[in-house]
Amino acid sequence: MRAAMRRPVTVQYPNHKKELPHRSRGFPVLLWDENATEPFCTGCQVCARYCPVDCMTVTMKDNPHFAEGTSKRKKIIDKFYIDYARCMRCDICVEVCNFDAIVMNNTWEGVELAKYDRQDLVMDLPMLLRQHKTGDLADPFREPMGVAHSGWTPYVEGEEEEAAVATAATTTATAAPAAEAPAVVIPAEAQPDAPGQATEGEG
Ligand code: SF4
Ligand code: SF4
Repeated sequence: MRAAMRRPVTVQYPNHKKELPHRSRGFPVLLWDENATEPFCTGCQVCARYCPVDCMTVTMKDNPHFAEGTSKRKKIIDKFYIDYARCMRCDICVEVCNFDAIVMNNTWEGVELAKYDRQDLVMDLPMLLRQHKTGDLADPFREPMGVAHSGWTPYVEGEEEEAAVATAATTTATAAPAAEAPAVVIPAEAQPDAPGQATEGEG
């Protein structure tokens, strides 16, 4: 009876959709620089070189806005393709981008992809920029999510013990000096004989 009265935890997808977590990792999209009215992407190709499935194609060109003095980017993206049919949403392209130009899409549009033709899953530059440029991608998660930026380092055997010893040594060296021990007063009769002093029974 209690189970029948309980509110359902499921929703009527796709008519009703739950809000995705901010860190959701949909397919990668490019960000639009409102101030310079151009993409953040300089076309440096670092992401394409690191992509493990080789699904990105990037070319760069001279930036006309730089020549006009309205942008600091000397080079700018010319053509950018991502084949979403091959992308495995690993986040590596976001990790390696030095210009914070690419993010993992954290909207439902970043995960809902149903096409009849695989060719339709190849996204070009306008498609990759559209969501951020129009404001549909209002709150992108800009931090890389992987190991490279987490501060985590792989465990190396023996290193942990060395670190523990080093920490213990540092703690001992920096610890407050121990309070001076109180002087112990030894009664005269209990004190050992002074050198040359005869003891009872001697002689
Ligand atoms: S998320 Fe991974 S697989 Fe997809 S484009 Fe970026 S680097 Fe390539
Ligand atoms: S997204 Fe970043 S890493 Fe990839 S080409 Fe553009 S600027 Fe370079």
